Amino acid sequence: MIKQPITFEPTERLRKLPPYLFAEIDRKKRELIAKGKDVIDLGVGDPDIPTPDFIVKALQEAATHPRNHRYALDQGMPEFRQAIRAWFQHRFNVKLDPDKEVLPLIGSKEGIGHLPLAVLDPGRVCLVPDPGYPVYRSGTLFAGGIPYTMPLLEKNGYLPDLKMIPADVLKNTKLMFLNYPNNPTSTVATKAFFQEAVEFAHKYQILIAHDAAYSEMTYEGLKSPSILEIPGAKEIAVELFSLSKTYNMTGWRIGFAVGNAQVLALLGKVKSNLDSGIFQAIQIAGTKALQEGQKALEQNLKIYQERRDLLVQGFRDLGWKIEAPKATFYVWIPVPAGYTSSELALKFLEELNIVVTPGNGFGPNGEGYFRISLTMAESRIMEALDRIKKSHSHYSKI
Ligand SMILES: *Cc1c(COP(=O)(O)O)cnc(C)c1O
Repeated sequence: MIKQPITFEPTERLRKLPPYLFAEIDRKKRELIAKGKDVIDLGVGDPDIPTPDFIVKALQEAATHPRNHRYALDQGMPEFRQAIRAWFQHRFNVKLDPDKEVLPLIGSKEGIGHLPLAVLDPGRVCLVPDPGYPVYRSGTLFAGGIPYTMPLLEKNGYLPDLKMIPADVLKNTKLMFLNYPNNPTSTVATKAFFQEAVEFAHKYQILIAHDAAYSEMTYEGLKSPSILEIPGAKEIAVELFSLSKTYNMTGWRIGFAVGNAQVLALLGKVKSNLDSGIFQAIQIAGTKALQEGQKALEQNLKIYQERRDLLVQGFRDLGWKIEAPKATFYVWIPVPAGYTSSELALKFLEELNIVVTPGNGFGPNGEGYFRISLTMAESRIMEALDRIKKSHSHYSKI
């Protein structure tokens, strides 16, 4: 009997997700590569530098022990939680209870995506920065929550203006995502801003989830604070960290959440129903990274800083007004007059075979900007600058 094939439609949940704006760029990029074009990808936020050798060796060694082949504890290995506690105390001078105030994650994205399931009932509001990492919005939507946009505007130093959020929205708000150092704008928040956010969260009984994935990626001696340095923050905040960008470990999938014990227990409950912890060998290697990774991190930052300076100077030489980022490996650049973000990104791709990320892919408030990622060798950055220079008559109305 021949049956009609069943078609599987996306659920309402999936249909609610914002359109994937990079799809056309991805498709064009693949098309150009298939045609043999030399495409320079300055789009992806994924370190090109390998994981430091001592971390890889720790994984190799740990992987040989059968005791590490079994299910890991949901709440993570005690050694790893201890290493997080020690790292946190050393880095921020904040004390954590490793049993209750530390929760290992399968990458910070996992924690961001699952947190709304733990703390946001359907119909409740989550405040999300725009432009911002898309998972704040999709995690909220998956939980049946309502994302409410907090615009990050250049005139406000890319910090949300909390006073602009209407009272009727706040009445229904349970959760707020923040992210500093910020992707995509590269802004570092001051302690004064965190202080304001903590007071705001106390006043309106909102949980702050601070995504600190780039906490260690700052330049010229600048240090990005933890929101937990603010007195009273532990009562209303959790903070998410990642080993991905810090130690070039994006593929390993390891990060952690710290802060409010009740919230971490709720997130742990969601996780224990969905995943079964992090491969122990990776936790052992992650422990090593936190304990001994500082030198490798500093070498890394030096490389990014050199690339940053090369890129910024190159653009300035061409007459573009651009700021050198103080953090992250992104440069957030205003689009020249006469183009939208998407138009500029497509033009760069088609005419110069350079991939950049259009700002509107991070939300409507990213329109008017594009993001360049410094995860490419200097020679490639120089080649990209050269191509822009050669075609510069096209972009001269800047
Ligand atoms: C890369 C990134 C993450 C995800 O990091 P993982 O730990 O690899 O999941 C989270 N937040 C922001 C803002 C990022 O750019």
